[in-house]
Amino acid sequence: MVKIIFLLSLALCSLSSWAFRYTKDFSDGFYWSSLPIQFIVMDTDSQRMNMIASIAQDAVSDWQEALIDNLWNVSSQQGSPVSNRNIIRWSTNFGQETGMSESSTLAVAVRYTGGPYIARGEIIINGKHPINSFSNQLKTVLVHELGHTLGLDHSEVNEAVMAPSLDLHYDGLHYDDIQGMSNTVMETKRRQAIGYVSPLSRSETTQSSAMSCGTIDISGGDGGSGGGPMNLIFSLGIGLMVMIFSRTSRSRRS
Ligand SMILES: [Zn+2]
Repeated sequence: MVKIIFLLSLALCSLSSWAFRYTKDFSDGFYWSSLPIQFIVMDTDSQRMNMIASIAQDAVSDWQEALIDNLWNVSSQQGSPVSNRNIIRWSTNFGQETGMSESSTLAVAVRYTGGPYIARGEIIINGKHPINSFSNQLKTVLVHELGHTLGLDHSEVNEAVMAPSLDLHYDGLHYDDIQGMSNTVMETKRRQAIGYVSPLSRSETTQSSAMSCGTIDISGGDGGSGGGPMNLIFSLGIGLMVMIFSRTSRSRRS
């Protein structure tokens, strides 16, 4: 009997693996060299800048209260967005800038690698999408995109904020989000402590991979901080509002 219970519990343990996933670049060994990550909301429109900064701070707080860790600092600066800082910005030309659908993508998180590190991050909000005009929805979008900046990919748990579908009734992080981020942060700190260098960061040829579920690699991005060629990795953001299921009020991202 004891043996059966033991075997059963073993079976249950193996079933209860987490559903969160790491982004491809993070899985490949790239990571932020230090935390917290300094993000700047940049906008020429001061009113919009203040609104986004306040919502972004709110989104940061959700993660930080759950993780009890200072993962991002958000400040704001009026002016045109620059390309050598970690930026959160509103795009009125989202489709052309990112090559993504303005009707189905809410935002995108871009991570640039330099050497063994994730050298820079950028969150671009689709200013043409009506959902982003609602502060509570924009907050959900930013909670999700912030998750991508550290290397957390889409989760298979539908209720998670990191699910590839936007929960219009988001009211806090799911256990899976917290487990995912907690593991991402622990792994980041482990790599920082040992000065980990991914073998992939030394390869001379920039790797490119086909578009997959959550990420697109684009080789040979522009320079920026960090030196050397940078790989541009689009993490298909929260975005993709392809269809809304009226019964559950969830919008789906492809
Ligand atoms: Zn996403």
